[in-house]
Amino acid sequence: MPIVGVLALQGDVREHVATLERLDVKVLKVRTPEQLDDIDGLIVPGGESTAIAHLLITSGIRPVLQARLDEGFKVLGTCAGLILLSDVVLDGRDDQWSFKKLDVSVRRNGYGRQIASFESPVDLKGVGEVPGVFIRAPKIEHVGDNVEVLATLDHGDGTHAVFVRHENVWGCSFHPELTSETRVHQLFTDAL
Ligand code: GLN
Repeated sequence: MPIVGVLALQGDVREHVATLERLDVKVLKVRTPEQLDDIDGLIVPGGESTAIAHLLITSGIRPVLQARLDEGFKVLGTCAGLILLSDVVLDGRDDQWSFKKLDVSVRRNGYGRQIASFESPVDLKGVGEVPGVFIRAPKIEHVGDNVEVLATLDHGDGTHAVFVRHENVWGCSFHPELTSETRVHQLFTDAL
């Protein structure tokens, strides 16, 4: 049975843990670099990317997770987690950094502010239709050639990728942990 970590520094930690507990996996809340040795894959939750980025540094996790990512460790980032994994972050804070493991450009709050949050079904490749909850979601504005697009959404100003994967890294601009849906988490845990 795989052990799945949820980065537990800030954001939707409890919701991801609750969803994973409905699957056939063990769950570990990750707060220290050492805990990365005890898991088979990690979910970086939604929340506030600048706050999570800050806590990744103060916790000492940043360099260890970067090295693990470079070695092929499997990570799923949702919403703020996607921002933290992307190569290019548009409308970020001046000091905003990211792990640069997904060849995509994301615009923070690209679908609008909190008040513009919305729900829309998303057709996820290999899974089917899943509910998409978009809250101050990052918009994926550019996708590199080597990145697989697993879902797109036509909302407002055209069609954009909302779920992408490159090798060991998955990124999703919506919040699969905020509904009763488990198939998105299953997609990730099946790959561990
Ligand atoms: N806009 C947020 C950020 O920049 C992400 C929003 C979310 O995770 N719901 O971190």
